[in-house]
Amino acid sequence: GKDKKKLGIALVGLGSYSGGQLAPGLQDAENCYLAGIVTGTPAKEKEWMEKYNIPKKNVYNYENFESIAKNKDIDIVYVVLPNSMHAEFCIRAAKAGKHVICEKPMAVSVEECDAIINACNEAGVKLSVGYRMQSDPYTKEIKRLVKEKPYGSVRYVSSDAGYISGGNPDQWRLNHALSGGGALMNMGVYSIQSNIYGTGQNPISVSAQEFSSRPEYFKDTDETITAQMEFPNGVVGNLYTSHNANANRLFVSFEKGWAELNPCHNYGPLAGRTSDGKEIKFPHQSMQKLQMDDFAKHIMLGTTNYAPGEMGKRDMIIVEAIYKSIKEGGSKVA
Ligand code: NDP
Repeated sequence: GKDKKKLGIALVGLGSYSGGQLAPGLQDAENCYLAGIVTGTPAKEKEWMEKYNIPKKNVYNYENFESIAKNKDIDIVYVVLPNSMHAEFCIRAAKAGKHVICEKPMAVSVEECDAIINACNEAGVKLSVGYRMQSDPYTKEIKRLVKEKPYGSVRYVSSDAGYISGGNPDQWRLNHALSGGGALMNMGVYSIQSNIYGTGQNPISVSAQEFSSRPEYFKDTDETITAQMEFPNGVVGNLYTSHNANANRLFVSFEKGWAELNPCHNYGPLAGRTSDGKEIKFPHQSMQKLQMDDFAKHIMLGTTNYAPGEMGKRDMIIVEAIYKSIKEGGSKVA
């Protein structure tokens, strides 16, 4: 409702991101609050109701989820499920008349992104992707340097996003049917994001390579991918994403200097500096809080949607182009 000060959010899928970041972020949010939950695990219902003071009438499972349509406490449904389940639940949420936040990567194909966007348009609800960095001041500062050009125009961007993955071989991220892909889907989208805000442009073409060191563990998903992106006016972007190395950095080369964020893609505090010895520094805040408040303000006040569905689709077009380039192959030298 427009008269409300805070919009009610229901989290769908109470895994590590919902529990570790989104629910805590919502405790400090100014324009939204944790109003409800949707879970397939009965034990989590009681635990979350107690911990976050959620009434029983705002608790749903995957079967009775549609009845959320009648619940006035819930304005926004936030889908935090394995990637291949995003489209189904975002579309069900839109049909229930709720605004939608879809976690990254938006879906597992461009076709699914279109289906989500269309469902939200048809239902007349707002849609955003869980790109928390779009609300973060460090990202905004890089965008400002790109736009205002104190160091001249951007010539080259390099962005790395990865971590060493291990543990349970049955986890959904290693299962292509649930994840839609490996490092590229999980962490590579951050690198795509920072290549784009770091150049201020969308790429024209990509060329990509895949590497593997543990094929027995990464049976079904990509372990490491590098890609080069061509941007307008000869600007070049470089992407590295991996589940076999810790890498978390953005480097932007301007005509007359450079800027760097390192770390860049984690939950913060982030850190940055520029070639003239200046520090890029902002007070640390939960990016998730900023992101969800921005979306609630977008709904209530018509302010900018910093991560619309079209942005998630744009990135999925690039993901598909990267996989296509890998499939088409390079040339062996040995
Ligand atoms: P988890 O595995 O920790 O949680 C996923 C949850 O989804 C489960 O706990 C479960 O919740 C539910 N679920 C329903 N069906 C399945 C299934 N078949 N297999 C596994 N889980 C299932 O994942 P994350 O929380 O790490 O990731 C969830 C989404 O959030 C992903 O799309 C991921 O990319 C994104 N993410 C985004 C981040 C960001 O910074 N923006 C950071 C981390 C993740 P329940 O028991 O309640 O049914």
